[in-house]
Parts: sequence; C-alpha cells; structure tokens
Amino acid sequence: MSPAVLHWRGILVPFITPWSSEAAPPPPVVVRYGVGGTGLGYADEDSRFDRWNDALWVRAPATRGHGVPRFAGIHALRQRQAMRRELCQVCGRPTFGTLPGERSLYLLGARDGDPIREEETTQAPPVHAACALLAIRECPHLRRGWAAALVQYAPAWGVAGILYDPATLAPLPGPAGAPDGLVEVPYIDEPRMRWVLAAREVVRLHGVEAVTDLEALAGEVRCG
Ligand SMILES: [Zn+2]
Repeated sequence: MSPAVLHWRGILVPFITPWSSEAAPPPPVVVRYGVGGTGLGYADEDSRFDRWNDALWVRAPATRGHGVPRFAGIHALRQRQAMRRELCQVCGRPTFGTLPGERSLYLLGARDGDPIREEETTQAPPVHAACALLAIRECPHLRRGWAAALVQYAPAWGVAGILYDPATLAPLPGPAGAPDGLVEVPYIDEPRMRWVLAAREVVRLHGVEAVTDLEALAGEVRCG
C-alpha cells in the first residue's frame, strides 16, 4: 500500500498534526445547567458539534495543509476521528483490516525501552505498518525511542483535556509531566467529565502483543 502522507518542505506531517491556519481563539466557557446537574459549556454551544459522549470538546477548525504545521500539537478533531474510525495517525486512511488477524498496530514514542503494556491507555491513534516505518525514519521524537504493539481491540476509555474549577471557571493546572498539561478523565468519572474541556480521545489497549520487527510486519500487510 502506498500511504497518502503529507509533507511540508520535505518534512513528514502526520494526519493528526495541526496547522497554523487551524488555530482559533477558544470561546469563553460558561456554567451549563443540563439534565442531571451543572457542568462546563459554551455560551453559543451546539451539542451536535461541541459534545461527544457528553464531554465538551475544544473547537478545532479543519484546514489541513494550509499554513505551517505545528509539530508540537495534536489536532483535536482529527485525533478523535482517527481514534473513532481507526484511521492511521500518519496518513489518515483506514487501518482496519490491513494487518493479519484484523488487529491494529500502535506506535508510541519516547518509551525509554518500555514495551506497550496490556490495558495501557493512550492518546495515539493506530498506524499502518508502512506508515510506522516512515514515521520512525522521519520524525525526530521517534528517533529517540519507540515501542510498537499489535492490539486486538481498543475501546474508548475517556478523554484528555483541561479541568475547570466549578466555582471560578478557571482552568486548573494539569498533572506534572503530562503531555501538554492535559489530565486524563475516564468516561465513568461522571463528576469530573462534566468539568473537563476535552482535547484528545483516550483508548485502552487490550490483547497487546509487542512488535519489535516492523519491517517484517510491513511485509505481511495485505494490499487492496
Ligand atoms: Zn497510514
């Protein structure tokens, strides 16, 4: 398979990377009085677009390929789409059914030699084997270390976002060392889910089998 990867000035730009044209000032948040209690909301909220699984989501214009890529960021909408639809985090095409056994491949960076663990949660969408090889060759943060695994299923677990103080509506600092200062909140934690502004979908990985030879795995990929 020849993945539809995007480059900018010769640099690989993953599907979930945001571009400068996609930056938008966040709308002010308000207290929303809904069924079952109060929570965070937008004054001009449209639940069809602003909510997913009851969580309030950051608004993310989608104009991929325009402007300059912001490699340090993650585009909230494309990340969520990739998680929900099993799209490749590098090229954006479907990954389902591209590997033997209908498992999905996950590639996580900066592991310090740690393998991906059973029932680990992650904000990283799946990836094609060929795209994983490409990303390892071209992405600086993966050159510093990575771990890969085949996963049987990855159900939605929760979101990563910014928690707001219900009393002051001020954003609360995230946990030390967390990527982008985001806190992970499971869907079952309904009280905190009401006060989080979600920026990433989080899944939990089940049926994990470590992959060390991505070249061999890419050779097994079914085409078409
Ligand atoms: Zn891909």
